[in-house]
Amino acid sequence: MNMVDITAAQAAYRDELVESGLLIPTGVDGLYGRSGVFEDVVERFDALVTRWGGQDGAEVMRFPPALNRRYFEESEYLKSFPHLAGTIHSFGGDEKAHRTLLRRLEEGQDWTEDQVATDVVMTPAACYPVYPTIARRGLLPGEGKLIDVFSYCFRHEPSIDPARMQLFRMREYIRIGTPDQVVEFRELWLERGREMMGALDVPLDVDVANDPFFGRAGTMLSNSQREQKLKFELLIPITSTEKPTACLSFNYHQDHFGHLWDIHTADGGVAHTACVGFGMERVALALFRHHGFDTAQWPGAVRKVLWG
Ligand code: ATP
Ligand code: ZN
Ligand code: MG
Repeated sequence: MNMVDITAAQAAYRDELVESGLLIPTGVDGLYGRSGVFEDVVERFDALVTRWGGQDGAEVMRFPPALNRRYFEESEYLKSFPHLAGTIHSFGGDEKAHRTLLRRLEEGQDWTEDQVATDVVMTPAACYPVYPTIARRGLLPGEGKLIDVFSYCFRHEPSIDPARMQLFRMREYIRIGTPDQVVEFRELWLERGREMMGALDVPLDVDVANDPFFGRAGTMLSNSQREQKLKFELLIPITSTEKPTACLSFNYHQDHFGHLWDIHTADGGVAHTACVGFGMERVALALFRHHGFDTAQWPGAVRKVLWG
C-alpha cells in the first residue's frame, strides 16, 4: 500500500466510525467526542489493565491533563519534541487590548497576539508529572517506586487517521529504581502486554521503535534509541496491515529522567526509569476494527475478558 492508499483507508475508517456514532466529530482533525459504547470499552480495558497490574502494589496518582510550566521546561521536552507541545495561553491585556481583541475577532483577523503564556502546559505523556513529584520526596526506598497514572495527553499531530488524535488518554505504570529493578519491570510488561492483548483476540506484533525526535540531531537520537532497543511497541493493525498502529509502548529511559530531576536510589546511584503506556483510544479502535462496532456481537471469549 502506498501513502495515498493508506491515507484513503484512514479517511474511510474515520468516516465509518463517525457514521456509527462511536466518534463524534468536532471539525478539527484528531479531536473527537466519544459515544457511550466507546467509553464502555475504554472503561473495561482500563479495568483489565488494573487486573493485570494492580497486584504489584503501585501507588496511584491522578493528575489533570496539564503540567506546571516550570517542570515542563525542565523536562527538556522542547529539546526533543517542540513540534508536538501544546502550551496554554490566556488573555493578559487591559480594556484597550480587549477592544482590539474584539475588533480583530469581528474582522476575522488574528486575535491571539495579546495572549500570554500561563503557568500550565498540556501534558504530553501521562508519566511527566510523576518524575518531579518523586524527586521532591528525596531518596527512593530500597525497593524503588512503582506508580500508576491515567491522563489525557495532548500532542499537536492533527491527522486524518482516527488512531492519531490530538487529545487522547494514556494509562501508564512507571518504575523508578536501580537499573536491574527497572529492566525487570519492562521485561515483565513486554510479556504481560502480549498475553493480555492476545486474550482480546486481536492480531499483534511487538517490535523495536523510536520516538519522533525533532530535526537532524533528532534522527541520530532516534537511531540510537533503536540500536539500544530502548523503546518497544505492541502493534495492532487498525487502518493498515502493513503499517500497524502502536497501541502499547514499553520505554526504558535509562538514567535520563533520574539525571534531569535528581532522583537517587537508596544506595545513592542515579535512578533509572521505565514506563509502560496503554493508548486507551487506540486499543478501543483496534477492538472495534477486529470485532465490529456492535460490542454485543463480539466473540464470547473477548466479552468475558472485558465484561466478566
Ligand atoms: P506513534 O509512534 O504512533 O506516534 P508514540 O510512540 O508517539 O506512538 P508513545 O509516546 O509511546 O506513542 O505513547 C504511548 C501510547 O499512547 C502509544 O502506544 C499509543 O497507544 C498512544 N498514543 C500515542 N500518540 C497517540 C495519538 N496521537 N493518538 C492516540 N493515541 C496515541
Ligand atoms: Zn511514560
Ligand atoms: Mg507519536
